[in-house]
Amino acid sequence: MMNHHFKDIYLQALHSTLFNGIHAFVLRLDVLHKVVSGNKWFKLKYYLEEAKQKQCTTIATFGGAYSNHVVATAYACKELGFKSMAYIRGEQPATLSHTLQAAMEYGMQLHYLSRNNYFFMKHDFTSLDKKKYIIPEGGYGVLGAKGAATILDNIDVKNYDYIIAACGTGTTVAGLLNACKNSTVKVIGINVLKGYENLYADILKVADEDVKSDNLFIYDYPFGGYAKYTPELILWMNDLYKQENIPTDFVYTAKLFYAVKDLYNKKILANNSKVLIIHSGGLQGNLSLPANTLSF
Ligand SMILES: *Cc1c(COP(=O)(O)O)cnc(C)c1O
Repeated sequence: MMNHHFKDIYLQALHSTLFNGIHAFVLRLDVLHKVVSGNKWFKLKYYLEEAKQKQCTTIATFGGAYSNHVVATAYACKELGFKSMAYIRGEQPATLSHTLQAAMEYGMQLHYLSRNNYFFMKHDFTSLDKKKYIIPEGGYGVLGAKGAATILDNIDVKNYDYIIAACGTGTTVAGLLNACKNSTVKVIGINVLKGYENLYADILKVADEDVKSDNLFIYDYPFGGYAKYTPELILWMNDLYKQENIPTDFVYTAKLFYAVKDLYNKKILANNSKVLIIHSGGLQGNLSLPANTLSF
């Protein structure tokens, strides 16, 4: 539906000593597009198709000031000729994040809501204008998962023992689980949020009914907390880039790759297993780090 400026995703085998003991491959969704990078485009596509079918002209969604989903929605809407708006959690900050600035540049209108109102409205759309097509926060929903399932369209999942991805809402992992219905591959969601205990249940809520829930595992790996980083994480990001030429973001994918190493060290991933890591993109989030933090 939206082809220009989009690049093909590809599979990369990892060769450095960082992942000794396993056969690791990375599905590089981060190269897809510089704004709508990674998993976001996959999660959005069926929502936007439905909006078009319903002849809605305005898309509304929800997110925080650093939401990759919000900026991806803004860009996709601009490309496809929709008007867009987002409800943003919290008061308007004195200086806008790069994410919100970019969203506005793509023509998105932003409405700031207090945390209480935000929480209420994101669960109850009844007070919102019925003519708007609403995409839930983070693209969380059945259509988001169905779109995310197409991430694996050109991958033979039977070649892998594990498929591992970072989780925010879990929509992406729900889609991966949909795509792995007919195989024994284990899907591991790396939970980067602290204390998000319902993640497993929330994933199954939006996945197809006939997925193999026994093959879904959650590994809690907040690494200090959501969107928090340590010097150790930054060293890891620079090392991963130097050794494998893979840029990561500090919120999701740096922790994802670190978690894979940790899962192997803890012997949760068996020796010599074949592991597919989903690089879900999100690199624009690194713009909020101080200059010169990263070598890429
Ligand atoms: C949004 C995002 C996620 C989380 O995806 P969910 O489908 O909400 O679990 C993971 N990685 C990156 C890079 C993201 O931007």
